Amino acid sequence: MSAQPLPYRIGYGEDAHRLAAGRPLILGGVEITGAERGPVAHSDGDAALHTLSDALLSGLALGDIGQYFPDTDPKWAGLNSADILRRCLELVRERGYAPANAALVVTLDTPKLGSKRAEIAQRIAGLLGLDSSEVGVSFKTSEGLAPDHIQARATILLVRL
Ligand SMILES: [Zn+2]
Repeated sequence: MSAQPLPYRIGYGEDAHRLAAGRPLILGGVEITGAERGPVAHSDGDAALHTLSDALLSGLALGDIGQYFPDTDPKWAGLNSADILRRCLELVRERGYAPANAALVVTLDTPKLGSKRAEIAQRIAGLLGLDSSEVGVSFKTSEGLAPDHIQARATILLVRL
């Protein structure tokens, strides 16, 4: 491997949360109104933002959000996931890289999320400093294989500034 920094780096992230009644469902910083269940989590359980945060870190081999925001630390209870993402973006920028585009896949059986796609893409784009045309958001169902979970996966392309 050369010592020269690469012009591009790809980051990949995954996240999953168990769903329970009486919890708000927040995805990409957008509250999904009318959802009967939401993620059980130490923070606000935003699987999309956790996934994207991990993707930012993994692109530069900086570890994962569990290291920076351990869920055993009461300091992070109820933490706004947008703040996690902002901190990860800062770590990436400090190293001379910035996101060029992101692709997010969310797997959830109910409710259907299609009507929220543009709003979620817009919000994520704002957090990452991108245009919403640079944020792909795909929705899948588990076909009943994981009806009690929300899962998210994301890739982010980082470009050297
Ligand atoms: Zn999470």
